[in-house]
Amino acid sequence: MKKGSVIDNASLDGIRNELSKKKKILITTHKSPDGDAVGSSLGLYHYLLVLGHEVWVSIPDPFPRFLQWIPGTDKLITYSKEKVKFEEVLNDIDILFALDYNHFSRSGEELGEILSASKAVKIMIDHHQEPDETMDFKVWDVGASSTAELVYDLIVSLSGDKGINKTIGECLYTGIMTDTGSFRFSTCTSHTMRITSHLLDEGVDGNKIHELVYDQNSIDRLHLMGYALEKMVFLKDYHTAYISLSRKELERFNYQAGDTEGLVNKVLSVKGVKVAALITEKEGNIRFSFRSSAQFSVNDFSRKHFNGGGHFHAAGGSLKGKISEAVKLFEEQIKKYKNELESA
Ligand code: 5GP
Ligand code: MN
Repeated sequence: MKKGSVIDNASLDGIRNELSKKKKILITTHKSPDGDAVGSSLGLYHYLLVLGHEVWVSIPDPFPRFLQWIPGTDKLITYSKEKVKFEEVLNDIDILFALDYNHFSRSGEELGEILSASKAVKIMIDHHQEPDETMDFKVWDVGASSTAELVYDLIVSLSGDKGINKTIGECLYTGIMTDTGSFRFSTCTSHTMRITSHLLDEGVDGNKIHELVYDQNSIDRLHLMGYALEKMVFLKDYHTAYISLSRKELERFNYQAGDTEGLVNKVLSVKGVKVAALITEKEGNIRFSFRSSAQFSVNDFSRKHFNGGGHFHAAGGSLKGKISEAVKLFEEQIKKYKNELESA
């Protein structure tokens, strides 16, 4: 179990050197940004502002409403809506941070190519498997609970405990809380809890943050959840359950970004289920969200069959085509793993 920061000295010295003079910095994160993407990006943003840098934060597309209260969300540049502004910033920066994603392609096809072509110094902070090797510097640990945890480790390595303040703490707490399923996943280590206790000591109100993130549901969202759970398919012999939602079904419930967040974990909670999937039709693409509770790597499964990846127990992927075909393909593929799932 992880007991402390594992940032190597070479990366730390390199990053310290890059930040030793006033720089223009852009922080970027992955498509469909979640609590860790937004929380870690804005935590780093507030820290870099304290150091005196000129800083921008961008997201590829809109973030969920339940993250709107996080300090600094009003400053986010949304690439899909503000391409001109985004490119102006990108062309002028010295340092490009890539947070909570292992490859530029995870920010979308078009944006991924633009970011890859940037001449800025590239620094990755991430906890996903198989990180891009073209970065100049990496703070990367697949054993970290969240990217927010790694941002905390970086800040404390560079500035000591005094580098953390309440505002930074609120951002990082959100990232850690959401990526650990409220401190319950196996990635939540004693180190994670020590970080969390430091954030609480800085004045972060964990109870309030939990309410702001999880108890602000629209009635449409809860109706969508109810509908989706009723639709769940249980492939008992394969220890698998899944839910599929077409664009039409999502529209019926006035779907907003983030409305299906957490749904796949409900699927995993079915007794006997080792693999859970949520299959949704979004912007002409089919999105897959996978979870596993046993010795079955959904990262490998998604990488192999659904152009995706992520972590051992949580991964995602995508396909072009019809949702009915995607569901059929998922069933076909998972059924090939009957023996592995039996013993997993
Ligand atoms: P979620 O199911 O919550 O969208 O994603 C689960 C995990 O898999 C997250 O850590 C996420 O970053 C990663 N992930 C989701 N979709 C993709 C994808 O299309 N490709 C890769 N490589 N990772 C993904
Ligand atoms: Mn994360």
